Parts: sequence; C-alpha cells; structure tokens
Amino acid sequence: MPQFDPKSLKTIGVFTSGGDAPGMNAAIRAVVRSAIHHGLQVKGIVGGYPGMVAGDFQPLSLSSMANIIQRGGTMLKTGRLPEFHQAEVRAAAIQNLRDDGIDALVCIGGDGSFTGAHLLWQEHKFPIIGIPGTIDNDIAETDLTVGFDTAVNIALDAIDRIRDTAASHDRLFIVEVMGRDSGFIAVDVGVAGGAEEIFIPENPATVDQAIERIKRGMARGKKSSILVAAEGHKPGRAYDLADAIRKKAGFDAKVCILGHIQRGGSPTAADRILASRFGAAAVDALLAGHCDAMTGIKGHDIVTVPFDKVIGFKKRVSPELVNLVRSLS
Ligand code: ADP
Repeated sequence: MPQFDPKSLKTIGVFTSGGDAPGMNAAIRAVVRSAIHHGLQVKGIVGGYPGMVAGDFQPLSLSSMANIIQRGGTMLKTGRLPEFHQAEVRAAAIQNLRDDGIDALVCIGGDGSFTGAHLLWQEHKFPIIGIPGTIDNDIAETDLTVGFDTAVNIALDAIDRIRDTAASHDRLFIVEVMGRDSGFIAVDVGVAGGAEEIFIPENPATVDQAIERIKRGMARGKKSSILVAAEGHKPGRAYDLADAIRKKAGFDAKVCILGHIQRGGSPTAADRILASRFGAAAVDALLAGHCDAMTGIKGHDIVTVPFDKVIGFKKRVSPELVNLVRSLS
C-alpha cells in the first residue's frame, strides 16, 4: 500500500467526478463529518477536475452537510475534463490545491476519475483515496459501488410497472437499462424482475435464444414477456433487438428505454449506508497514511485496495446470476 506521512495532514479536499450516482451526497457527508470529527478541515472542490483546475474550492462545515443524505445527484456537482490527460494541466491543479492549503484528496467517482487521481500521486506525490461511485458497479476489487443499488431498484420498479401493462395487453417488452461495458444492472434487474432473457455485453444472448425462450413460455400459456437489455455502446440498441425479433419471429416487441431516470432520485438505504462507510473509511485510510488506493467492500467488510490493482481491471458479472435468469424464466 502506498504511504505518505499523515502528520502534516490538516485539510482534506473532497470532490465528485465523472458520472453522478445516487449516494454521492451521503459519501461527501461522511467524509466531511468524519474528517471534522478527527480534527481536520475539509474543502469541497466544485465540479470535479474542471473545478480543481479553476481553483473552485469551498470550505465545508458540519452544518453544510445537513439534509443531504437523502438527496440524489451531488451537491458538489461533477464534471469531465479531457485536458486532465495533459501533465501540465494536472500540475496546475496541484498548484491550486497547495496554494489553498489542501494536503490530501478524497475522489468519489469511477475508473476514469481514479486514473487522474493515480497520476496526481505518481507525478506529484499528492495523497488521494478513491471512493467507488458509479451506478454501473463495474469497478474491480469491490463487490459494490455507490449508486448501483439505487439504479437497480429504480429499473426494477419500472419493470414491475411495465409488467402490468405487458400482461394486460399480452405484449412482449424489451426494457433497456444502463450499462455500456457491463451488465451488472441488467443481470440484477433480470433476476429480481423475472425477465425471460437478458442481453449483456459480457455474455450476450442471441436473438434466436430469446425467441426460443419466448416460444417456450407461449407453449405453457404465457402471453407476455419481458426481455432486459444493457444499453452497450449504442444506447437505443433495444430498438435493433426489437427489429431483429420482429423479422425472425414476427413478434411485435415494444421498447422502453429507461435512460437517465436510473441515475436520479433518493438513494436507497443500502447505498446511503455503503456511502457512509466508504466516506469514514477514506478518512481513516488517510489518517493512517494510506493513499493511492480505493475503499471497497468485500462481503461485509470494508477494505482498502491500491489503485494499481483497480484501475484498468474488469470485474465480471456473476455467471451464477446470469444462469439463474435463464433457468428461472
Ligand atoms: P468515471 O470516473 O465515472 O469513469 P470518466 O471516465 O468520464 O468518468 O472520467 C472522469 C474524468 O477523469 C475525465 O473527464 C478526466 O478529467 C479524468 N480522467 C479520465 N481518464 C483519465 C486519464 N487517463 N488521465 C487523466 N485524467 C483522466
């Protein structure tokens, strides 16, 4: 585990970066309250890396964290900055942080944000701990990321509603959920929502397999079906699947794309608790002199994992859950 001398630690900066996720506010709150509890000061960096480069910092107090644990989105705003790939832009950000008296950072985000953070440690020995915050759950070395449980529950609620109308009209629906490179949301929603078939990037079902499953259901009197598709690299691909099913089998499939709805809304209890644990653990890790690492959860335990083992690695969906969707449909 990379180390720094925590004796000089007085002020922590916290920021959210990349895609927003429900529960990020609960994580910010936990970082701020836990740091202040340990006698540290905290500054918020507004808008992720763009705010770091612009020097947009604001002091965060205990009371400024009131009434945010239940809110979706991120009160610190988030952002993307392609220029952060340039070493001189990162050096300017570090200068701003040092000028403002910030000694260490907590970065709440995904793989891209962690890559930027890792470079700040490698190039400038600036201590950073990451908190995995993304609805996609596609971060290695942690069972769960902040926002995933909320996104799954929002998608599940939508599927339950669609099932009502699907059953009333004897319809086939394809519900498209988020997940560009990974099918974590689709798999969980597929199991919990009783889908007939799931289309995920890691283990794609073929259109023929889906048709086969629909026909098997029809043979036992089933008149409506739900298929779940992860968006993949082309949001709207559910329309292509619907076309293919129509052409091959003549079934008229309705499409419902859930899109950004999955990112919004109040975080679930599970996400608030996870975010609170991660936030406190990130401060503990910095106080222990650990850095260039991410907080994660393995089973029920909070762990700290060096970025070297996280960034660029892929976490796989559980084959057991994929099989479960198919065996129970
Ligand atoms: P996420 O953190 O959710 O994966 P992104 O991949 O969009 O989100 O990354 C967020 C930001 O992190 C980018 O806009 C950029 O500022 C920074 N970043 C991503 N990749 C790199 C990289 N290879 N080098 C430096 N900064 C990066």
